[in-house]
Amino acid sequence: EFFKGKGQHILKNPLIVQSIVDKAGLKSTDVVLEIGPGTGNLTLQLLQKAKKVIAVEIDSRMVLELQRRVQGTPQAAHLQIIQGDVLKTELPYFDVCVANIPYQISSPLTFKLLAHRPTFRAAIIMFQHEFAMRLVARAGDPLYSRLAVNTQLLARVSHLLKVGRNNFRPPPRVDSSVVRIEPRHPLPPINLREWDGLIRLAFLRKNKTLGAIFRHHSTLAHLERNYEVAQALGDVRPAGGNASAMDLGAEDAHMAADDDDGVMSQAGDEGMDVDGGPARKKGGKHKFSEGFRQKVTEVLQRSGFEDKRAAKLVQEEFMTLLAEFHKVGIHFL
Ligand code: SAM
Repeated sequence: EFFKGKGQHILKNPLIVQSIVDKAGLKSTDVVLEIGPGTGNLTLQLLQKAKKVIAVEIDSRMVLELQRRVQGTPQAAHLQIIQGDVLKTELPYFDVCVANIPYQISSPLTFKLLAHRPTFRAAIIMFQHEFAMRLVARAGDPLYSRLAVNTQLLARVSHLLKVGRNNFRPPPRVDSSVVRIEPRHPLPPINLREWDGLIRLAFLRKNKTLGAIFRHHSTLAHLERNYEVAQALGDVRPAGGNASAMDLGAEDAHMAADDDDGVMSQAGDEGMDVDGGPARKKGGKHKFSEGFRQKVTEVLQRSGFEDKRAAKLVQEEFMTLLAEFHKVGIHFL
């Protein structure tokens, strides 16, 4: 009776429903976007607090059930249901988002929300516990990753409450956690595409030193090509433009497929040609000049990042590093 793959696990514990609604801190003037209302357990509570609830639900049977549940109540006039896939739906204006979503769409949904304009006040989202832990991880935590760095660039995130699997019917195979996401505005004034280029590179081997990562031949070759393009354009800002916040959520595998030059696919060639000599450089696939290698090394040494590891760097440090590279015309595209 449940749609396979739609993550239809209905939240049965009214205390948790209440707690989610409380933590949303709703005002009577708020427009709430609810994603995946299902049979409406959360929706009915949200309608008590907010001016309006706009619910996006993919499953027509759930839409019918929800309509039936509010029909004839005073709340009916305050509920708008959009039937469709939230990832393919243009989102309306909202102040607060509340979502108990299928876990497969966690990452694309998070970044879709963070790209939404105008910026909303907060999103209260139920995620798979492990995903939630990765989202809120701080520098030095074992779960610190590109996901945490990019999310936290765009938003403040905090863990609100862990929800055991037995609070759902049918119970999923994993536990859940409710997370609060508050978009930062204004965003830090950086080029998101370059930011993500640096972050991807640094987190390919998050426990290696940046010195080691930037000695990689494929990395040097890739960066020198960017550098030459930027020089040729006679401009510090090379082509490529900015990225949308949504791109920061793109999965690593997708980007690896976009780049056949190897810079993004180093994960597959452990310990490759780092020690290759000049002969190797000349004949090898990845060409770069000695002068460029030195330029990169100097940036890392001067800024004190050569022996640092991505796993321990905070956002401000990544920003400093990016700015240091920009000073000498090195870009991440
Ligand atoms: N909010 C309800 C609750 O807490 O009991 C139901 C939550 S259930 C985990 C997820 C809901 O999201 C289901 O109703 C499912 O049909 C819906 N859903 C799944 N994928 C969706 C998508 N891509 N866009 C919109 N809704 C989706």
